[in-house]
Amino acid sequence: MTQPVTATPQLPEYKTVCGGVIKDPENYPSAIYHGERLYFCTRACLRVFDQDPDPFLAGDVEHPIEED
Ligand SMILES: [Zn+2]
Repeated sequence: MTQPVTATPQLPEYKTVCGGVIKDPENYPSAIYHGERLYFCTRACLRVFDQDPDPFLAGDVEHPIEED
């Protein structure tokens, strides 16, 4: 689940709460939490986050590996 952090100068990078870095956030699920936009690697991750945001952000919840 680790993506290489290679910078492409012309594109900003967005960190997912899953620890990845994405350059095309419109292709990823996101949520607003405490006024901040958070990005997720998969919709499954977003669903788990929705159910229990704090433990998820604290890293106490396993990220689902399956996409849906
Ligand atoms: Zn994830």
